[in-house]
Amino acid sequence: MAAKDYYETLGVPKSATAEEIKKAYRRLARKHHPDTGGTEEKFKEIGEAYEVLSDPEKRSQYDQFGAYFGGNVPPGAGSSGAGAGGWPGGAPGQGGYQYSNVDLGDLGDMFGNLFGGGMPGGATTGSSRGKAQASAQRGRDLTYEVSLSFDDALTGVSTKVDVQRTENCPTCHGSGAAPGTSPVTCPVCHGSGHVAEGQGLFSFSRPCPRCGGAGTVIETPCPTCRGKGKVVKTKPVTIQIPPGVTDGGKIRFKGKGEPGSGGGPAGDLYVVTRIKAHPYFTREGADVILELPVTVTEAALGAQLEVPTPGGGRVKLKVAEGTQDGKVYKLPGKGAPRLKGNGSGDMRVRVKLVVPQDLNAEQKELLKRFASSRGEADSVRAHLAKD
Ligand SMILES: [Zn+2]
Ligand SMILES: [Zn+2]
Repeated sequence: MAAKDYYETLGVPKSATAEEIKKAYRRLARKHHPDTGGTEEKFKEIGEAYEVLSDPEKRSQYDQFGAYFGGNVPPGAGSSGAGAGGWPGGAPGQGGYQYSNVDLGDLGDMFGNLFGGGMPGGATTGSSRGKAQASAQRGRDLTYEVSLSFDDALTGVSTKVDVQRTENCPTCHGSGAAPGTSPVTCPVCHGSGHVAEGQGLFSFSRPCPRCGGAGTVIETPCPTCRGKGKVVKTKPVTIQIPPGVTDGGKIRFKGKGEPGSGGGPAGDLYVVTRIKAHPYFTREGADVILELPVTVTEAALGAQLEVPTPGGGRVKLKVAEGTQDGKVYKLPGKGAPRLKGNGSGDMRVRVKLVVPQDLNAEQKELLKRFASSRGEADSVRAHLAKD
């Protein structure tokens, strides 16, 4: 992996102040947030740059040893490519960055609870091996998608998600070593998890390439997990979808992600809601839109019409005399519930004029008589006439 220029990522000069860095980060995070059309890759990159540059200590380390940052893992280090991070003096987590560490300020309001590491691969798996990572590790966040009917999205629903979670291997209880054996002290770093690099003023330690910073190595891998210490289990998790969720919205279920290790808390489960199309309603945020077909005579003469509402009921709607195509009637509070319990959106009924196409001879004759009785009154294109 090439060394990353965090300053370039955030578009700030090396001399940028903390305030400038924060500003640049907020602007970019808004722009590149996956929920507003950005890519997760770019968004993660920005978060990673900000996490380093916003922390005076990490920033100064980065300024000195930049090339070793950003998961520049020596070959053989870390398990399953998760990377032990290339941090002099210990990684801030194993590969990837926990967004929960980042001060989001008012961004938090904007994205609600979306942060916390919902990006795939954006959080730590927390391999519990060895002393270097023996401390409590938060479980990984998981993201799943659920498909909801239009009505369930309005009313909320209890549903099950089959969640694949990485758990401690039941055979070796997470050690990765075959039963009857145990991990042995790493011969390269003698258990410290780090090796010295450079010399004099510029000497610092980096994670041991043999054990990936764990301090121990496994000589006889556990047959169940092949030495990983973890197994993947599918488990149904019951979740309550609140009323009013939107298509593409993300809900956080705290502590329903992967279990933590070493006494660390479980990660969170993020559920992205997808809403199936309804035969005639559509959603725009909390507003529900209904296209209402209206005949030419109803529109011309006015009509009292009955329209369905999202809740399943029906309401009377008075279409005024002389209503034009595209006219919108607003029914306040008849839309979807707002997620934060702030009442409901509106229902908007959009008139769609339907011109008859199957006229018989008699009807055509009537319309011609109607037109001639209108005469000058129907000069709808008068404004387009030549001078
Ligand atoms: Zn095992
Ligand atoms: Zn080692």
